[in-house]
Amino acid sequence: MFEQTFDFIRQQFDNQSPIPLHEPTFCGNEKQYLAECIDSTFVSSVGVFVDKFEQAVADFVGSQHAVAVVNGTQALFVALKSLGVDASCEVLTQSLTFVATANAIHYTGAAPVFLDVDPQTLGLSPVALKEFLQQHTELRDGHRVNKTSGRTIAACLPMHTCGHPCQIEALQKICTENGIHLIEDAAESLGSYTAKKHTGTFGRMGIFSFNGNKVVTTGGGGMLVTDDDELAQKLRHLTTTAKVPHPWEFIHDQIGYNYRMPNINAALGLAQMEQLPLLLQKKRGLATSYREFFCGSEILYLNEPPGSQSNFWLNTILLPTEGQKEAFLEQANHQGIGARSLWRPMHLLEMYRHCQRDAQTSAEQIYRQAVNIPSSVRL
Ligand SMILES: *Cc1c(COP(=O)(O)O)cnc(C)c1O
Repeated sequence: MFEQTFDFIRQQFDNQSPIPLHEPTFCGNEKQYLAECIDSTFVSSVGVFVDKFEQAVADFVGSQHAVAVVNGTQALFVALKSLGVDASCEVLTQSLTFVATANAIHYTGAAPVFLDVDPQTLGLSPVALKEFLQQHTELRDGHRVNKTSGRTIAACLPMHTCGHPCQIEALQKICTENGIHLIEDAAESLGSYTAKKHTGTFGRMGIFSFNGNKVVTTGGGGMLVTDDDELAQKLRHLTTTAKVPHPWEFIHDQIGYNYRMPNINAALGLAQMEQLPLLLQKKRGLATSYREFFCGSEILYLNEPPGSQSNFWLNTILLPTEGQKEAFLEQANHQGIGARSLWRPMHLLEMYRHCQRDAQTSAEQIYRQAVNIPSSVRL
């Protein structure tokens, strides 16, 4: 019964078989920069490509600083760490997210609190955030504290799901009013904007991922962006083993992390950043084709939210009835079409089942109905 949809997907990918959900595109200076990097012998954690890649990302997103790290998960962890998030804290996030968001919170010792998503954006719901703060927290000495657990609400960590910007301006306002740090998990949203401002630049910090399945890749990699000079310096220090700069002495002034992105990964990243505008244009083209195809059909295509510009990292459709997801995924994958479920919400995973959460009405419904369909760039 989904044959028409499968035929259309095959057409978009010139009958390629199998069709992966998302594969990287290398069509620029990737090989040249990698060769230059190898010839220079500086393939590890020092080198010009890291600086150039950081500058390219900072310029692209319009942030003052960018700090390149080994992956997006550690970028999230160190972002929280740099703001002093620890076991006395709680971090508010959405349940419908990739597990890295929750894991990064857990690594700091803090407790994640899982709130519902907005069904239009699939990102953290400002209504859910406000409700939680009103019902479950109070001000103590100028800090928002969870009335039940006694822990401080240190940060709010929304995610821009599948590249679609969440309602970040509303979230930003609530966070400011309540003295909560805003950190954006923009791992999936390089090239996505709310009101012409790039995702990841609304809070204290934003993070991006350059894993192989993201819009652009460094093999593995991540980036922290911020406009705060002091914070940028702290992030750089923490991610380079907290070494005090000195020509020959090894002195470390705190427990740091070896998270700096290797130069060879940055070489790949720099070439990918040069291609990003082209890749975004192609992704928008595919999204338009999908949107037009599903328009008027029973299947709902998830478009970019009003007032925003999505990178269309992954194209998401909502199946008309809840029982159809398994059948769709089984038939698609049987035919070599790399369709995938959205992530099982965190509050349904064994290790996060005991965490505080709200009703999760939208997250659970979306999880039951949503499917991601092949979204790679075709040149
Ligand atoms: C990809 C991703 C990350 C980071 O992943 P890494 O593989 O560690 O780079 C974090 N959060 C979300 C939502 C992601 O999709």
